[in-house]
Amino acid sequence: MAKTIGVLTSGGDAPGMNAAVRAVVRAALSKGMKVYGIRRGYNGLINGDIFEMNALSVSGIISKGGTCLYTARCNEFRYEEGINKGRDTCRKLGIEGIVVIGGDGSFRGAADLSAAGINCIGIPGTIDNDIKCTEYTIGYDTALNTAIEMVDKLNDTTSSHDRCSVVEVMGRNAGYLALNVACATGADAVITPELGYDLDNIINELCDARQRGKNHFVVVVAEGIGNSENIARAIQERTGIESRATVLGHVQRGGAPTCRDRVAATLMGCYAVDLLEQGIGNRVVGMKDNKIYDVDIQEALAMTKSFEQNVFDAVKITAY
Ligand code: ADP
Repeated sequence: MAKTIGVLTSGGDAPGMNAAVRAVVRAALSKGMKVYGIRRGYNGLINGDIFEMNALSVSGIISKGGTCLYTARCNEFRYEEGINKGRDTCRKLGIEGIVVIGGDGSFRGAADLSAAGINCIGIPGTIDNDIKCTEYTIGYDTALNTAIEMVDKLNDTTSSHDRCSVVEVMGRNAGYLALNVACATGADAVITPELGYDLDNIINELCDARQRGKNHFVVVVAEGIGNSENIARAIQERTGIESRATVLGHVQRGGAPTCRDRVAATLMGCYAVDLLEQGIGNRVVGMKDNKIYDVDIQEALAMTKSFEQNVFDAVKITAY
């Protein structure tokens, strides 16, 4: 039975990480555990940047984007020496288990540390929704809504000038964010890394739409494709439609988390503490069939996640 645990955020930040930290701290305290906050991901474990948290340490943060524990990448933790340093820090402070909020890379570190004797539980936090073992990742809904708001705004000016907007959204090598933003903003086309693209097809579709009377267009491009300036230039050169590229960038990582992110973070945080209380480690908490569950970290990393073909098809159909 773990009596002292730690919590850290690692890798890219995501709105809702604070809500998860709050849930971990409050759930642990409610069970009589001692909780340490570990700053800047695995760096804090290596250099001892760790502080004891109480209920007030997390008051007011449920509504804040970013992460109060800061986040970072830590190359040293990829190697045995770094893992051993982390384990030694835990032993010194009596930390028996750690909740790691982050993505796949952070879960690899959590697996290594679990193997070294410190039980770790991963919670998926990334705006990209690209973690295979879970239908949902903390931060995704907020990023979707931020991107939608931005594309809606772009659409106002795009339509006033009879233009085409090529909008690049985040998502790393996954197209979930792009697909759903395209669907929710009524985009004319979406380009994702999973399916790639044929510029001739897209240009033909835009020309057909123009024939049907459309006079402004939005093409959503996923970060994993990039190239939005060139795509906009090609559309303008070949159709004569004035085209602009907009890269939304890191604004998508910020902002107050939505209800969905706060609730998911809270449920996952409580669930993770339950696992540590039972002395369980090397698991990732995820969402399956809309329910929280947990899975072995190695199994989680080996899973595959399907492309949302139905959403892609719906974008095409409704762009008619
Ligand atoms: P994310 O967790 O968002 O996928 P990264 O891939 O950058 O982000 O990983 C975050 C951190 O997790 C890395 O900086 C490193 O400290 C740790 N990490 C990543 N891969 C490994 C690995 N193979 N073994 C141990 N730790 C790792």
